[in-house]
Amino acid sequence: MGFIPIYEPVLGEKEKEYVLDCVDSTWISSLGKYVERFEKEFASFSQASNGVAVANGTVALQLALAALKIGPGDEVLIPDLTFVATANAVKYMGAEPVLLPSEEATWNIDVTKIKQFITPKTKAIIPVHLYGHPCDMDPIMEIAQEHNLKVIEDAAEAHGAEYKGKKVGSFGDIACFSFYGNKIITTGEGGICLSNNSELADHMRFLKDHAMDPQKRYWHPEIGFNFRMTNIQAALGVAQLERIDSILAKKREHAKLYRDLLSEIPNITIQPEADYAKSVFWMHSALITEQFPRSRDDLAAYLKQNQIDSRPFFYPISSLPPYKRQTDETTGRLARQGINLPSATNLTDESIRTICSSIASAAAE
Ligand SMILES: *Cc1c(COP(=O)(O)O)cnc(C)c1O
Repeated sequence: MGFIPIYEPVLGEKEKEYVLDCVDSTWISSLGKYVERFEKEFASFSQASNGVAVANGTVALQLALAALKIGPGDEVLIPDLTFVATANAVKYMGAEPVLLPSEEATWNIDVTKIKQFITPKTKAIIPVHLYGHPCDMDPIMEIAQEHNLKVIEDAAEAHGAEYKGKKVGSFGDIACFSFYGNKIITTGEGGICLSNNSELADHMRFLKDHAMDPQKRYWHPEIGFNFRMTNIQAALGVAQLERIDSILAKKREHAKLYRDLLSEIPNITIQPEADYAKSVFWMHSALITEQFPRSRDDLAAYLKQNQIDSRPFFYPISSLPPYKRQTDETTGRLARQGINLPSATNLTDESIRTICSSIASAAAE
């Protein structure tokens, strides 16, 4: 059957057509019709009013923090269990990330524990919709309001996910998405900031383009950035967006098949889905218990021998050298026992059956 990768982008004729259109028209830099079209269409897909396209998901987070004037002396609440970019973006702005523990049920921020981490220096919270599962946004927004915190959703893994019927990316002051090659939709490298606040969106548009005065060329009243997305990236994005509904439908189907097949193997469970949530299952993530006969890394090695790729969960940020501190117990256990299984949209049902029977033999041997 051949090697089953953890992920691969699915690209087709439309992607080719739009990218070639950029080349043929010579509009290959960050001016051109696709950038604006992608911003409008992705914002509208996510039920937000404004989109500001940028070079990648990491600078999307940095731009959001800059626009909200987060800087030295400020603390920003982020989950301990996330991709390192969430923490780094806070550091780039000179602010301090404060690491929140995860909850057992969804692997996202434990909303019952947020308040104990709030100090007079806390300025913002970045909930991360981990592996495609939305955070419990109602209590997060309530706490944010009560303590006057800005909310930046890190939705880099959750394009199209829903919380109580509403798309992620429409809750916070700003939401950030990534379009890296293995995300739900891709522009190669790319990102976007969404906001329902037009002033904030205009400010981000200004900051991402060297903070140049729109009325006065080469006049820069602030220190800005070059975080622009190219027309070629946006062309890919427009084409990918045309197929996002079928991608999300496929992901749900795959999640159901994984869930059904893994439910027959003891001591391993697939990512849960809370009542309030419609996950997009960016990764088909599984968790083994202490009783599983192999360690997570041993299971990954077994799968590799059987031509099946996988990824461990992220290391907690608190375990990485630049951020080293005590790791919360639940967070540490999730990070140690979580494994991401092949999650490409073009996986076949047959591959999923092969993967699950390989896990069953790993558990039996
Ligand atoms: C992918 C990702 C990012 C960063 O996106 P890039 O486009 O790779 O810079 C940020 N946060 C999370 C949670 C991610 O998964």
